Amino acid sequence: MSFTNKRRYEESYLSFGVTVLTAGGVEKPQCVLCFEVLAASSLKPSKLKRHLETKHPSAVNKDEQFFRRQADRLVKSRFDDTGMFMQDVAAGLKAFYEVSRKITAAKSHITLESS
Ligand SMILES: [Zn+2]
Repeated sequence: MSFTNKRRYEESYLSFGVTVLTAGGVEKPQCVLCFEVLAASSLKPSKLKRHLETKHPSAVNKDEQFFRRQADRLVKSRFDDTGMFMQDVAAGLKAFYEVSRKITAAKSHITLESS
């Protein structure tokens, strides 16, 4: 009855390993494991779950705390995207997160980006 067909990001989506990125006023899901930004239309449980199961099968059973920590890292790593400011800080963080990302990627799926 109170179940509405909303497509907004919900905190519970974090259990799928996804947080949300707001780009140009549009909310897009972003995977906290591979940092992939998915289409806004993917912002629903079935799609998010699919990404997790397909790309990160080893993380399917992780609890929300695990994803929360990943999300926390992701937020900090967004310095990369804004680029123009705090580059010095970002450079240091980037080196750190590159390592984290490679470890994560190696554990789950071969999605290493050349760098
Ligand atoms: Zn992913």
